[in-house]
Amino acid sequence: MIKKNIAILGSTGSIGTQTLSVISEYPDLFQVQVLTAANNYVLLIEQARKYKPLAVVITNEKYYSVVNEALHAIGIQVYTGAEALVEVVKISSIDVVLTALVGFSGLEPTLAAIKEGKTIALANKETLVVAGALITRAAKENNVKILPVDSEHSAIFQCLVGEQSSAVEKIILTASGGPFLGKDRAFLSTASSKQALKHPNWQMGDKITIDSASLMNKGLEVIEARWLFNVDVRQIDVVIHPQSIIHSMVQFKDGSVKAQLGLPDMKLPIQYALFYPNRVENNHPRLDFDHFSQLTFEKPDREVFANLDLAYKALEVGGSMPCVLNAANEVVVAAFLKQEIGFLEMSDVIAEIMTKTNFIKEPGLSDFLEIDQVSRMYAEESVKRKRTISSTNFK
Ligand code: NDP
Ligand code: MG
Repeated sequence: MIKKNIAILGSTGSIGTQTLSVISEYPDLFQVQVLTAANNYVLLIEQARKYKPLAVVITNEKYYSVVNEALHAIGIQVYTGAEALVEVVKISSIDVVLTALVGFSGLEPTLAAIKEGKTIALANKETLVVAGALITRAAKENNVKILPVDSEHSAIFQCLVGEQSSAVEKIILTASGGPFLGKDRAFLSTASSKQALKHPNWQMGDKITIDSASLMNKGLEVIEARWLFNVDVRQIDVVIHPQSIIHSMVQFKDGSVKAQLGLPDMKLPIQYALFYPNRVENNHPRLDFDHFSQLTFEKPDREVFANLDLAYKALEVGGSMPCVLNAANEVVVAAFLKQEIGFLEMSDVIAEIMTKTNFIKEPGLSDFLEIDQVSRMYAEESVKRKRTISSTNFK
């Protein structure tokens, strides 16, 4: 196999660190060329000393000098600011850009990497949620592959190997249901961020863990699937599967259903994306059917977990609406983590902002930047109002 040069955007996060751990198992097959972080300069410096990339980015300018002092002397270029992410992916020797940034911040660097013809290993689902049409069009024009890292989409991608896309009837995304599976609105109205951060099956960054508890993660994945696999919204179903062993399924025109199974461990989808189309050996733990003798399925409760419906609605409306949904969601998740609003209020704010922001049918990059800003501003105002109301209630 030829050695691949890789840039890891968001190398200090959950996906970023697991990607480095996969790469460490195959030191002759990868050369890390770029690593990036927002704030965690300590880990970024440690990673850079170990993997010796050409360049690193620390987006928070506050930490630039300490990172530069540590790495400049050993020949590593250090850059800062969000714009640097867009520049650094253009380094000509990079083959693959693995995008593990959180939220909207992934959009511009991913688009820049596509325009440079780099293969994309995509973890940052929000990029496709916000601008699926723009991103997939750019990928087509530049003959770029977008390889899914998200476990559900990796599962679907694996099920589709050797199949014709016209043979697909339906995509069935599985969802663990998160820590609040089976809970009612009364419970959720007082649920804390500490409870929401306890995911039963996966260890992930805070934002996606809250999204999993609220089922917004599954909603975002429905939109991600629409663009990755070029299917209609009506062809995408969600089923709750609490064990997280079946990572997703594809139903074909003849009624046959293919599923991909494995232990809940992101290293497998990361490895599959990095080595695609090859499968390589590893010594990760294997699925033992004696331990998982029951795989169960149930319908998601869309009334209690309103975010799933909001995401379907945003996809049906199309245009700028998924960008609005995403921006409002990023604001409410941050507010919920800071205990500024309650769990159920997250959906209320998102629904409100979706009715408020001007609609654009075919947005371009500059429209997305503006819609994101405006939606965030509206969502922040709405969060503030909710805080004022709840503090008055306590008086
Ligand atoms: P983490 O929060 O663990 O890590 C995010 C990484 O991106 C960190 O390196 C962080 O730097 C950096 N970062 C965060 N915000 C910004 C920003 N505004 N600008 C520049 N860099 C930033 O997230 P995860 O690894 O959990 O998730 C990454 C993406 O992958 C998300 O889109 C998520 O939905 C998706 N995903 C994650 C899965 C998982 O198992 N974790 C599974 C499937 C998809 P710093 O450390 O300095 O803050
Ligand atoms: Mg997923």
